[in-house]
Amino acid sequence: AIPLVVAINTSLAARNGMLVRDRAAMEQARNLDTVVFDKTGTLTEGEHGVVGTATVDGVDEDEAFALAAAVEGDSEHMIARAIREAAAERGVEVPDASDFEAIKGRGVRATVHGDELFVGGPNLLDQLDSDVPDELQRFADEAGENAQTVVYLLRAGEPIAAFAMADVVRESSFRVVDALHDLGVEVAMLTGDSQDVASAVADELGIDTVFAEVLPEDKDGKIRELQDQGKLVAMVGDGVNDAPALARADVGIAIGSGTDVAVQSADVVLVQNDPMDVVRLVKLSRASYRKMQ
Ligand code: ADP
Ligand code: MG
Repeated sequence: AIPLVVAINTSLAARNGMLVRDRAAMEQARNLDTVVFDKTGTLTEGEHGVVGTATVDGVDEDEAFALAAAVEGDSEHMIARAIREAAAERGVEVPDASDFEAIKGRGVRATVHGDELFVGGPNLLDQLDSDVPDELQRFADEAGENAQTVVYLLRAGEPIAAFAMADVVRESSFRVVDALHDLGVEVAMLTGDSQDVASAVADELGIDTVFAEVLPEDKDGKIRELQDQGKLVAMVGDGVNDAPALARADVGIAIGSGTDVAVQSADVVLVQNDPMDVVRLVKLSRASYRKMQ
């Protein structure tokens, strides 16, 4: 009888916009203890816009945007797109850059006018052992309090400008967290973004556990940490960076807009790109397997 029930289950799922790639995971979904969400592009819209800038003495804002846009010229990251757009809106002339390098989960590097420049967040500053000057730190603190993501432009290893970017929490994220709590499921968030931004978003949504400033290669380790506590864990994400965590989770859930790599690492794909479908998935799994008995 099991294959029949599973068949009903997966076709029901398909009608609800869920593509089941691993049926055993679909069955596990009814027993989940914790659902871990990627932040950017999953709980939030992922559409950053630059909302503020600060520079050190001797560097003007137009120059900062021109240099940052040049360094970000080759990057597909949402942060890169936002900086390029802001530079274009200002009408600054973006210089040529060469030797582009993406530093996964940290930022980007390129050569402009013979200078080695970087753009990146706190994870990059850690790696370069670089300190933020006071005037930029004050700006970053205020931005952090407003849940804005801050990245820095570095020249000669020193931050010379900071850019604050705003992202918007998705309307449905509020309902998802409440509904999962009603089902007795804990909610966690996993992100490469700063602790400030992650905590602000988590507080707003009522999320129980936050893993912030996590490097791409460490994301699956956070899932394992929860599993080592005896928890059955689902991971919901969309990015290339999320793939190992999706594979590691008991139930890996890729969200519709996801990259191919994310989709291939997932057990279930939510075609409609609606986080509320995570709740529907748990309910469907519970309803289907209850009927069986
Ligand atoms: P997430 O977990 O939110 O998907 P990522 O792993 O893609 O984040 O990036 C983590 C952090 O690394 C970003 O918040 C940012 O600080 C920095 N970063 C990554 N890529 C870039 C980039 N192209 N430009 C500037 N900063 C970047
Ligand atoms: Mg993401």
